[in-house]
Amino acid sequence: MNPADRTLTEQNLLFHGMDFASVEYLLERSSVRSLAAGEKLLQPDTPNRHLHLILEGKLSVYLVAQETLEYTTLLPGECAGEISLVDGKHPSALVVAAEPARVLCVPHDTVWSLADHSHEIARNLLEIIAGRMRNDNMALIASQNRKTQFEHQAYVDALTGIYNRRWMGNAFPRALQRCALDKLPYAVMLVDIDHFKQVNDTYGHLVGDLALKVVARCMAENLRPHDLLVRYGGEEFAVLLPDAGPEEAKAIAERLRAMIADTEISCCDIALRVTISIGITPSRHEGTVENLIREADHALYRAKELGRNRVEVFAGTGEAPA
Ligand code: GH3
Ligand code: MG
Ligand code: MG
Repeated sequence: MNPADRTLTEQNLLFHGMDFASVEYLLERSSVRSLAAGEKLLQPDTPNRHLHLILEGKLSVYLVAQETLEYTTLLPGECAGEISLVDGKHPSALVVAAEPARVLCVPHDTVWSLADHSHEIARNLLEIIAGRMRNDNMALIASQNRKTQFEHQAYVDALTGIYNRRWMGNAFPRALQRCALDKLPYAVMLVDIDHFKQVNDTYGHLVGDLALKVVARCMAENLRPHDLLVRYGGEEFAVLLPDAGPEEAKAIAERLRAMIADTEISCCDIALRVTISIGITPSRHEGTVENLIREADHALYRAKELGRNRVEVFAGTGEAPA
């Protein structure tokens, strides 16, 4: 090994804190390999019988294929291939030269001889492997967090911050099932902001957006903790009220209606109020989400017809859903 490569090898993590000269002779069967940019050093389908000490250049690690996102970068002083050194299996990742690179390829049995001769080397090897496992764990946690965040985003309405219709598709049937099991009454409300088009036309879309946020927040704050509130569509909200009989549901709706009508929405020098109309349908044995929404929508339609800013309850079998 030439003096420059000897210096680079000595600086590798594997030889940290020990007398390199005392084990140098064990490296005689090791060889330096030059890699062109893009050249593969390790691949999951090819056996690996060496630990690679990086002397120069930069290596990219990919967990699946080269097309996927780079997982990590390896630099001079680091190693590649330590996992297959331990378990004797094929490499767990694809390692490619990100730029022209040079590595010292140390045969596995040489690595074990080095570990036999020096406790420091054995400990360094453990540290290298532990570091790799720690990185893997952190990457796993980060990826789990990203997944949770994506899932959260998929179920939450970006404008109002309340759950969206997609979430409703899972949550409402489950809540209905729970009510049926516990033999509890429930009610579904459909809430629609009155003359909302006029709000947009008069004050502009941004003020319209603000009004939507204020209405959503006001409802979220004034419902009971176990009520399920979603943005059902444009300026419509759906609410499932578990454990609420017809009278209680009507009282809750009436309270929300009055609360919204009383709330001033202010933005710069604009101050406005909006009102809401609410259609309610009380529980029935065969209630599916679709039927309940259709019935609530029918009652909502009546609330609009009767002048808006009011609550109407679906009248039952006598009132055929639209
Ligand atoms: P009604 O009292 O009969 O409900 O009348 P309306 O004007 O509220 O009903 P309409 O269905 O005619 O209009 C609803 C309006 O809501 C039209 C649409 O542009 C507006 N809208 C829907 N989603 C949003 C939104 O995210 N932001 C804003 N600013 N407006 C929205
Ligand atoms: Mg509407
Ligand atoms: Mg409306």
